[in-house]
Amino acid sequence: MGTKYREVILPEKKKIVMIAHDNKKKDLLDWAVLHSDKLAEHHLYATGTTGKLLERETGFKVTCFESGPLGGDMQAGSYIAEGKIDMVLFFWDPLAAQPHDPDIRALLRVAVVWNVPMACNRATADFLINSPYFSSEYTKQVIDFTVYKSRKTD
Ligand code: PGA
Repeated sequence: MGTKYREVILPEKKKIVMIAHDNKKKDLLDWAVLHSDKLAEHHLYATGTTGKLLERETGFKVTCFESGPLGGDMQAGSYIAEGKIDMVLFFWDPLAAQPHDPDIRALLRVAVVWNVPMACNRATADFLINSPYFSSEYTKQVIDFTVYKSRKTD
């Protein structure tokens, strides 16, 4: 009955997706500027508006998805499912209702499914960026879904 795991290596140079809800954008931008030297070592992705602001404030090249409420969170989620994202920095707003709440929940869920390091607030982002693993390889454990995928359904 024990869950089986397999190892996935996160590379030195990581693919990091950054998302901030409107009331949290300033917080994420301030944080990104403060840590721009470390962030510059990685590939950055973001939802549309967050990405545009990040490019403007930091000068980074950011690969932008669609704006969050227009499907950007789901695009980030699909990248996670495809193993194309190594880390999520998602400053979501706990005090404002979002029209795309189901998409947000899906993104948070799929990040947990694939054991993706994810910071949802500034303190956790500080812990991640100051971890030795931020700029070195890290071997993570991911559930081995082979058994699940070969289960009998008829
Ligand atoms: P935005 O999307 O970066 O396009 O504002 C963020 C979100 O609301 O998920």
